[in-house]
Amino acid sequence: MQISGTAAIVTGGASGLGAATARALAERGARVFALDISIDSAPEVPGVTYLAADVTSEEDVQAAVDTAADSGVPLRVAVNCAGIGPSTRTVGKSGPHPLDLYRKVIDINLVGTFNVMRLAAAAMGRTEPLEHGQRGVIVNTASIAAYDGQIGQVAYAASKAAVVGMTLPAARDLSSVGVRVMTIAPGIVDTPMLATVSEEFRAGLAAGVPFPKRLAQPEEYARLAVAIVEHDYLNGEVIRMDGALRMAP
Ligand code: NAD
Repeated sequence: MQISGTAAIVTGGASGLGAATARALAERGARVFALDISIDSAPEVPGVTYLAADVTSEEDVQAAVDTAADSGVPLRVAVNCAGIGPSTRTVGKSGPHPLDLYRKVIDINLVGTFNVMRLAAAAMGRTEPLEHGQRGVIVNTASIAAYDGQIGQVAYAASKAAVVGMTLPAARDLSSVGVRVMTIAPGIVDTPMLATVSEEFRAGLAAGVPFPKRLAQPEEYARLAVAIVEHDYLNGEVIRMDGALRMAP
């Protein structure tokens, strides 16, 4: 599918993977609407409009989808990058861990992804079909934690495994409206999400990547998202972008 001449939604578009993807899509001629809960420090990028929106809110996402759908070019791309990764465990020294943080991670990473997917796909379904009935594509973001969750990733890994799990059924489901669904499962990408990690720990993570022996860059995620949008035969699949990294527990 051609990116130029489409409208695109990118969630988490003010930072990290989302910001790189918003820029990459805009450089290829898309009208990009970057949704984020905090847009004050978003970079200024030609072709990218920032919209304050919480992905868990039906109203916020519907308003953003309407803005994109009414932009004068058809909404055909939605990339879900919004996410959080706070440490969540099961039992600590003072007893079982509280439910509220667990629920928050699931709500943003999983329910938020589903919320955007369903509302964007509904709008895509109202556009004129392209060749072979295609109307759009949705790219979700899981993580290698979906397969290889670490201590402290109890909620995060569950949310990402669920994003992996809904990829194929959603792709089959949305074939009725000509919308493809794909998921990228990144390894370790150098973004603000890693801000709290020490230099020493980062170096250890990089050394553990079989090839290349470094952390991934957000632009490498963006290039893969672009390739997925452009490749009409990719559908219902999860692509790991992790340099063959397998984490030790
Ligand atoms: P990031 O923190 O740089 O960006 C995430 C963005 O999501 C932020 O701008 C934040 O404000 C936004 N956000 C958070 N909650 C939101 C909400 N409720 N509504 C709207 N926006 C919200 O992180 P990143 O590294 O770019 O991560 C992007 C995605 O990639 C996440 O889903 C993350 O789980 C996933 N991921 C990251 C890595 C990595 O190593 N960085 C690895 C695997 C997967």
